[in-house]
Amino acid sequence: MREFRFAETVDEALALVADGFVPMAGGTDLVVAARHGKAPLPDRVVSLQHLRELAVIESTDNGLLIGAIVTHAELMGAPDVVGAATALSDASALVGSPSTRNVGTIGGNIMNASPAMDTGAPLVVLDGQIVLGSTGGERQVSPAELWTGPGSTSAMPGEMCTAVSLPSPPPASGSAYVRLEYRRAMEIAVVGAAARVCLDPDGSGRVVSASVALTAVAPTIIEVTGASEILEGARLMPDDSGASAIDGGPLAAIARAASDQATPISDLRASDGYRRHCVGVMARRAVEAAARRAGGATLTVPVNRSTGMGVSL
Ligand SMILES: Cc1cc2nc3c(=O)[nH]c(=O)nc-3n(C[C@H](O)[C@H](O)[C@H](O)COP(=O)(O)OP(=O)(O)OC[C@H]3O[C@@H](n4cnc5c(N)ncnc54)[C@H](O)[C@@H]3O)c2cc1C
Repeated sequence: MREFRFAETVDEALALVADGFVPMAGGTDLVVAARHGKAPLPDRVVSLQHLRELAVIESTDNGLLIGAIVTHAELMGAPDVVGAATALSDASALVGSPSTRNVGTIGGNIMNASPAMDTGAPLVVLDGQIVLGSTGGERQVSPAELWTGPGSTSAMPGEMCTAVSLPSPPPASGSAYVRLEYRRAMEIAVVGAAARVCLDPDGSGRVVSASVALTAVAPTIIEVTGASEILEGARLMPDDSGASAIDGGPLAAIARAASDQATPISDLRASDGYRRHCVGVMARRAVEAAARRAGGATLTVPVNRSTGMGVSL
């Protein structure tokens, strides 16, 4: 017999999940997959939609705590997120259509564990932690610890995501997420990249550290190894003298590193070779946009169509 319950408190939800109920937030993955015949609906489902305490974005002493059922529509416009975690706002602004963004949640995106999820790469570069709750308490895991393969996580039976925690951004830092898409709406990323760039607070515009993560080019979201070393010391912001002040070498190197470390598949939407090439382009664009934001430039959310940077490899 099928059972569908609305939890009215987090404790009730955790008790039901401990009893084998499957959590559902917006249902835009769970229900849509069932309707399309990809996976049957679980027999026992608990809706999290009444849990208003999980629908809050909170500023903490150390950063932001984003409740698991905060929607993409909220993430793309929340001033705290746009200000401190801009790559995450970029990503949520790109998800599906307005209707998908209005019901689809960050918790559902993360726990669905698709390698093409848009919020994943931003969480990696922003040093996000996923809060997993259970009747026994809670623990925090990094994205790399959470995602174990396409559609699978290391969450234990009885655990559900209650929140995502993001540390305060370092000074003079900025972040961005860009993706390749063939049309604007109702489509997941062909490939994507997020970057965070921290500039020297001395105003020289030189990079002191950086992080880059890639979407849809491996079984899980991956972080580019060596990104910080490649970009350290580079000047990625145009100054008064114009674009010639940008160090092109490190940008080309980061694109190469992203392409080299990608292990994409071929499918109907793109060949592995095309994905490999394009993820380099995306990585480079994300780094440039993040650097410009770190330097104080205001680029709209999402950043894709607003960079005007004419990036080429
Ligand atoms: C038309 C369309 C377009 C889309 N476009 C995009 C896109 O561009 N980019 C993108 O990334 N995604 C896209 N998606 C996928 C989907 O909308 C997102 O992944 C969304 O964030 C899922 O959130 P949800 O709340 O609807 O998840 P649900 O469908 O409710 O849940 C998804 C999975 O996560 C589990 N789950 C949900 N919440 C929790 C929790 N708190 N703790 C533990 N497990 C939980 C569920 O059991 C289920 O396995 C699209 C979907 C559709 C239908």
